[in-house]
Amino acid sequence: MFRTGTDIELAASILRSGDVVVIPTETVYGLSANAFNPEAVKKIFAIKKRPLFNPLIVHSDSLTKVEQYVAEFPLKAKKLSEKFWPGPLTIVLKKSNIISEIVTGGNSTVAVRIPNHPLTIALLKLLDFPLAAPSANPFGFISPTTPQHVEEQLGDKIKYILDGGKCMVGIESTIIGFFEDEPEILRFGGISIEDIEAIIGKVKIKNNDFLENPIAPGQLKSHYAPKHKLIFGDLEKMIKKGDYNPVKIGILSFNNLYSMIPQENQIRLSKNLDLNEAAGNLFDSLRKLDKLDIEVIFAEEFPNRELGRAINDRLTRASAERY
Ligand code: AMP
Ligand code: MG
Repeated sequence: MFRTGTDIELAASILRSGDVVVIPTETVYGLSANAFNPEAVKKIFAIKKRPLFNPLIVHSDSLTKVEQYVAEFPLKAKKLSEKFWPGPLTIVLKKSNIISEIVTGGNSTVAVRIPNHPLTIALLKLLDFPLAAPSANPFGFISPTTPQHVEEQLGDKIKYILDGGKCMVGIESTIIGFFEDEPEILRFGGISIEDIEAIIGKVKIKNNDFLENPIAPGQLKSHYAPKHKLIFGDLEKMIKKGDYNPVKIGILSFNNLYSMIPQENQIRLSKNLDLNEAAGNLFDSLRKLDKLDIEVIFAEEFPNRELGRAINDRLTRASAERY
């Protein structure tokens, strides 16, 4: 039923008709709809089986347009937008009247971003509305970083996937909110806290549980979840503990190989210990491990700096246990 291609005119006409289109961004693939059309936006929630209170990010191609979607743009937020847009930073600001509450999950704030992908920017330029889009995966599962990932999970539910290749950043955007003018990190992602603090000084970091599930914090175990059980922590200790048959263990590591585990069950996220590369390979690697005939995935804890924080955040949510 779906088609994949690079036809932005076709994508634009489907979006104008009130239907959804999957779009590439540098972070992950998005399931997008006309943010000004509540009926179109509702289709996103239905296809993803996403709870209605979970707000969507509004994507645009220009700062002038974004200014119309927000009631105010504090100076620090402006500085960040100038530095990091187009790019993997989402800014949550007080919404203006033209943004409907269906997009914001009933909140008086709206999340806005200019993504850094040439196809999606070209598409947005054809449209006279912004695109509301969450990640193009069923709610709670691993985010897609290639058109094939989207096809596997949602292919029967969508008409068109705009094919922009592999997502270059490969992990979701960092989300920063401005409430009472105080910047606060709501989600770790593709822009590091270190880079943000270099522009606007020290920022608060919100207890992340709130974000993905504002009504029921703590019920986050299935988020970003592979099908196999995932245990997150110190690989040496997990392997030595001996709870699993070594041939039934899959390994997700930064760059180490483990002699007791079959080599074909091991994925190293970055042989050069590059955290950006590791983040970019994370979701695809989890999908590959999910396809193996194993009983458990052991995932390594990454250095808690730069994009390592975003990786640890996703692995914590993907894990059934921490070891
Ligand atoms: P996704 O693209 O699927 O990762 O989902 C979008 C993310 O943006 C979710 O984590 C939302 O909770 C977050 N988000 C969107 N709008 C807001 C908002 N107004 N306030 C706080 N978080 C938001
Ligand atoms: Mg998501």
